[in-house]
Amino acid sequence: MTTPSSYSLSDYERPSLHAPEGAEAILLHSCCAPCAGEIMLAIKASGIQQTIFFYNPNIHPAEEYEMRKSENKRYCDKLGIPFIDADYDTDHWFERVKGLENEPERGARCTVCFDIRFERTALFAHEHQFPLISSTLGISRWKNMAQICASGEHAAAPYQDVSYWTLNWRKQGGSQRMVELAKQEHFYQQEYCGCVYSLRDSNRHRQACDRPKIKRLSQFYGEKNVSLIARSTL
Ligand code: SF4
Repeated sequence: MTTPSSYSLSDYERPSLHAPEGAEAILLHSCCAPCAGEIMLAIKASGIQQTIFFYNPNIHPAEEYEMRKSENKRYCDKLGIPFIDADYDTDHWFERVKGLENEPERGARCTVCFDIRFERTALFAHEHQFPLISSTLGISRWKNMAQICASGEHAAAPYQDVSYWTLNWRKQGGSQRMVELAKQEHFYQQEYCGCVYSLRDSNRHRQACDRPKIKRLSQFYGEKNVSLIARSTL
């Protein structure tokens, strides 16, 4: 497969996606702009109507949440894609993961975290007549695709009119285009999954490797040493 130096809707070469059962609209749960960008383009280029559902009460702290959300909204606005700004109900998230604070990434806490986010997505889809849901979480190589799909299907199961699309977004060059697009758009580059426990564990790992702690809100794809003030003018 050839790799264009940049990606836009006009030079998009990916084969068309075919939604299950010919669904013409999807409610796409999104975790952040870098993961969502390539998937949003792929869906748009395939002529499937999409709405982004940003529901991520796992993200800690609030400034980090606001940054990830605003980056995602910025790209939705650029592509003319509707963006649903859902609740930041952190109390609910902490209540559900209680007792799982020391689970490793990809463990039981992550399953609950996916369940929380996909249950809300499926409910919104049911209430607003979206026949199909999926999540951008699946494109990250740090995630367990089978774990994500199982949570997605579990969340959609109570609704006869909603199904979860288990497409592997990483395939057909998806992972590569995800990174290229993030650089092209200068998306904010987070260095931990999102919750307070992933921040803690990432910093512990860095400390063990004699590396400095994570400096949040400071890194952007395709740029070095860009201040937030300079970033806001891009
Ligand atoms: S590590 Fe990531 S997926 Fe797992 S619980 Fe934390 S935020 Fe959720």
